[in-house]
Order: sequence, then structure tokens, then C-alpha cells
Amino acid sequence: MTVTFQTLGLSQPVLQALALKDYTQPSPIQAQAIPSLLQGRDLLGIAQTGTGKTAAFMLPSIDRLSGARRPQSRTCRMLVLAPTRELASQIAQSARDYAKFTPLNVATVFGGTSLHKNRQDLARGVDVLVATPGRLLDLIDQGALTLSKLEILVLDEADQMMDLGFIHALRRIVAMLPRERQTLFFSATMPKAIRELAGKYLTDPIEVKVAPEATTAERVTQFVTFCNQGEKQALLTLTLKATTIDRALVFTRTKHGADRVVRQLAASGIAANAIHGNKSQPQRERALGEFRAGKVPILVATDIAARGIDVSGVSHVFNFELPNVPDQYVHRIGRTARAGNDGVAIAFCSDEERGDLRGIEKLIRQRIEVMPPPAGLAAEAARIKALRPAPAPAGERQERHERPRHEQRRPGGPSRRKPGGSGPNHRTSNGGVRKGEVGRHSGRVRRSSDARI
Ligand code: AMP
Repeated sequence: MTVTFQTLGLSQPVLQALALKDYTQPSPIQAQAIPSLLQGRDLLGIAQTGTGKTAAFMLPSIDRLSGARRPQSRTCRMLVLAPTRELASQIAQSARDYAKFTPLNVATVFGGTSLHKNRQDLARGVDVLVATPGRLLDLIDQGALTLSKLEILVLDEADQMMDLGFIHALRRIVAMLPRERQTLFFSATMPKAIRELAGKYLTDPIEVKVAPEATTAERVTQFVTFCNQGEKQALLTLTLKATTIDRALVFTRTKHGADRVVRQLAASGIAANAIHGNKSQPQRERALGEFRAGKVPILVATDIAARGIDVSGVSHVFNFELPNVPDQYVHRIGRTARAGNDGVAIAFCSDEERGDLRGIEKLIRQRIEVMPPPAGLAAEAARIKALRPAPAPAGERQERHERPRHEQRRPGGPSRRKPGGSGPNHRTSNGGVRKGEVGRHSGRVRRSSDARI
């Protein structure tokens, strides 16, 4: 029998909302997860964005929440925790679409938005709340919300939450939850530490696994070009000029690096936006909006801002710098070749990055085809060097690394962080706990942990 949304057991209002989407049939994760979730089972999902996992957890949850009960003031019935603002806002939009024909209300709380508005939304009581952990805790601490009435908890992109140092925030949140609840735990990767963490939250979960880590890579045509670090801007400019691009994502290691690439492209007449944690919320939304709409089809991003973003029609991913955690490469190139489309990923590899490249090739179990540098690279590099693009605005001058925690130290290598640095990603020497989260325990002023993403 063909699996359809009807045969999965979803109710009429949800089916009606799905009819407005052009989904012809459930994706594998939806087919596997929805029937058990409708029965109230816990779930451990190993899946990346792009697999349809949002609908996999949202559709049955909306169904289960749609009964007569309304949320009490300052409570929520379902909480979805996401690592980044962009992902939280994307999930909330999906929830609103899927709950269109139900009486359920959906709210978001994340850094960079009005606390006053958050408090107003929560005062009414919320059916589906999508939040990043730092802002959520701020609101709980202010008495704007209690989690004691929670029925469903979803933890999305758990591995990225760990990378971002949200572990303490999650521990605090979970301690506030009622024992009797349904918990869904999603992670793109499932290393031992994440599995152990999941074990603490879940009771007798069903386990669903789709598109294991390395397989995304198989759908993307990948190339690597060897060059000097100093030639990368010229390589990018020449490649962008010579290639037909629908939308291109360019990944850099640092926020400062992302801004520099954008400025240099502008100096060569190529419009691009940057998205990273130093940008204000409106700037981030505008950059993403212009990228989605194809208005500015080149987006230069750091890992933290870009992961989880679901934009269709990304034809190219450029690794301006290689990530030194191989998994991250798979996440990056997974932004293209979505929904059956073709995608091209081009990595720029300097001599210093050859070790990173070997690690990536080992993970994806394939050799990446070498694309020779284009003719005229040295001349273009000299031309760009002479251009002297506009200087960085004051706020951008300070070099701040924005990288997942496990990327911040190379094994055996010196820390890339300046000693005593006060950037929001600051690592302490006492076991890698973030300043934002230790602040409360050590008596220092606590800063919202959302500030760093
Ligand atoms: P997600 O993995 O939740 O980020 O979803 C990735 C994209 O797939 C989103 O744009 C969804 O709207 C879309 N999507 C989700 N379920 C389906 C489906 N069954 N058929 C087609 N597209 C879907």
C-alpha cells in the first residue's frame, strides 16, 4: 500500500493544511515517525534539515494538541528548542502553516527580538513555543513563563546545541519539565556524547535514521582547487564571474573573514551579503530574505549562522576555507542539491588545509576531484590587492572567531583564541564552559547565551 499523509493517521485539519503545500507524499522520516508520534511515543531522530523532519515532529504534535484544552497564562504546551534564531523562526513558520486550520497559537522567543513582545505573547499562554535556549531562560527567570504544563518537548539539532555550548542551559530547562511528557530528540549526527544525553531525556524511544551523515555528499558534485590563502578572493571572484549561479553560499571560518569577502566582492562589482552572529537581527533577516528571493544571490556565512537554514535553489556552495571538523563539510555542502536538484560544491584548499581535506575525504569515503585554478589567477589576485576596498566599519574590525566549540582547538595545536578574549564565544579554562552560562553560577552577570549566534 502506498504511504500517504492520510494513511499515516493524521486528522482532517492537518490534512487540509498539507493540501495547501505541494507535498505529494510523506518523506521517509515522516512515514517512519508520524504513526508512533501520534501514539505519544518518544523519538530519537538522526536526520538533517532537508529531510522533512520539521513536519515529521510538527504534524503529529499539532494533531495531539488540537483537543479542546487551551494553554494557561504564562505556560506553553509544546516547546521546540532550536540552536539558532534563523532555525527557530523557520520552524515557527512551518508550525503556523501546518496549524492553520486548528485553534492552536504559535509564538517564538529568541535573542534580538523584543522582550516586551515575548512577555505579552507568553501572558496569553502558548500552544507551540519555538525558542532558543538563552532567551527562553531569561524569560523563565523573569517569571514570564513556567514549563510545568509542558506536554511535548522537541530538541532540534542537538549536536549543534552542544557545539554552541548550550548544555548547561538544556540541563536547567529539562530540570523544570514535568516527568509526564513526550520528548523528541533530533540530531544530524549521533556521537556517543549526544546519544548519552538523549538517553537522559527519552523514555523507550523509537529510533529513526535517515540520510546518514556521509550520504548527502553523494548527491553533490564536488571539486577542490588548490591555491594560496592570498589567492582565494581572486579565485572566488573569477569563479563567480565565469559560472552560472542561481544562489551561492560561501563559507568562511570567521565573521571578520565573511565581512572581508563581501567587501572585496563589492569592490569587484559583485553584490553579496554576509550573515553571522555579529550582525543585528534585522540585518540577518534582510540578508536571508534577499538570498531567498534571489535578489542578492550570494550569501557569505559562518557555520553557526548558516546551518539549518533551508533555502531551496542553492546551486553552489563554496568552501572559502575548509572546516577542520569533517562533519561540518558535509553540513555545508548539504545546503545544495536539495529536493532532488543538482548541486556543486567547490573547496578552496591552501597548503595549511591539506590535513583538513584528508579528514573530509576519509569521512565521505571519496576523493574530491581536483579543479585546476583558472588562467589569470595570479593577475586577478594582484588586481584585487590593488583595489583597496572600503575599510571595515568600526564594529567589524576586531577579529572574532565564530566556530563550534570542538573546532576552536586543533588537537595538539595552540588555541586560536586570544587569551582573555571577551568575545561571546569565550571558552574558559575550566573545562570549556561558556561565560554566558557559568556567569550565573559564579556570581558574575549572566548574559543571554543567544547573543553569540
Ligand atoms: P526540513 O527538513 O524540515 O527543514 O524540511 C525541508 C524542506 O522540505 C522544507 O522546505 C519543507 O517545506 C519541505 N518538505 C517537508 N515535507 C515534505 C514532503 N513530504 N514533500 C515535499 N517537501 C517537503
